[in-house]
Amino acid sequence: MTLFRPTRSRATTTRVDLAPLRVRPCRDLCSWHRTPVERRGEAMFACRGCGSQWVPGEHWTPRDRDGAVPPDILAIRRAEAPEDAAP
Ligand SMILES: [Zn+2]
Repeated sequence: MTLFRPTRSRATTTRVDLAPLRVRPCRDLCSWHRTPVERRGEAMFACRGCGSQWVPGEHWTPRDRDGAVPPDILAIRRAEAPEDAAP
């Protein structure tokens, strides 16, 4: 008796969870956008300029080519630090 079950339990999302983020030096063409992908339950962002990837759990904050933090990412950072570190 041969029971063959193809092990196809690994979904694409699992591989995204395990794969390291791509982080590249950002250049003057950077433009950050939220992707439809989630990584470990966090929304994943990607830069169309240099191909870097970012999730809110990272210790750095992405910036667009004009030096501004993208509004979506700024909103996440503000929500994380309600006291807003006023100097
Ligand atoms: Zn970039």
